[in-house]
Amino acid sequence: MFTIVLLGAPGAGKGTQAKLIAEKFHFAHISTGDLFRNNIKNSTSLGLEAKSYIDRGALCPDSLTINMLFDHLQKLPRDFQGCILDGVPRTIEQANMLSGIGYPHQLPINLVVNLVVDQDEISKRMIKRAEIEHRSDDTPEVIKQRLANYFAQTKPLEDYYAAKGILSNVDGMGTVDEIFARLADVIEKQR
Ligand code: ADP
Repeated sequence: MFTIVLLGAPGAGKGTQAKLIAEKFHFAHISTGDLFRNNIKNSTSLGLEAKSYIDRGALCPDSLTINMLFDHLQKLPRDFQGCILDGVPRTIEQANMLSGIGYPHQLPINLVVNLVVDQDEISKRMIKRAEIEHRSDDTPEVIKQRLANYFAQTKPLEDYYAAKGILSNVDGMGTVDEIFARLADVIEKQR
């Protein structure tokens, strides 16, 4: 199975692009944010635990997140050509767990695409999305916290995957179609 990680700041457009990639390449789209939100909606015990972190803009614990991910992977139909991970890994620890370091399972990553969007544009997109989606973690204070987490905990994954030789930076500025064309190009060349 070909596995792609989509990296980028909150509001960089990962969800939108991951969905398009999944359709075009017949990949499973796996968003840990969506998995958590589904658990919250269905009032599962995992959802209840996750909500306490999500609502204050904190990352959920690594093992909670990675266990949820593998649980979901096991239930996936076998006919996908690959999968696109949106929002995971989000810490170096999670990336290590995916490669089987300190964790009993493995999900080898073939390609990491980093969507590069400038800071002004990210703030604009997050404010716009807050107006449309009314997510409980889209208040100005929590947005600030999520951005801070991204810089402290997730951005270091760029160097982590660059050192493994599997990172591609893609310009995330422009229209959805323009960005998608760039991403599809990178994926087609690597697949
Ligand atoms: P964003 O738009 O901030 O990227 P997501 O929908 O991907 O939002 O995730 C929403 C929230 O879910 C995050 O702020 C975090 O609390 C939690 N979450 C999602 N993925 C992870 C992960 N891989 N590790 C820890 N927490 C996560």
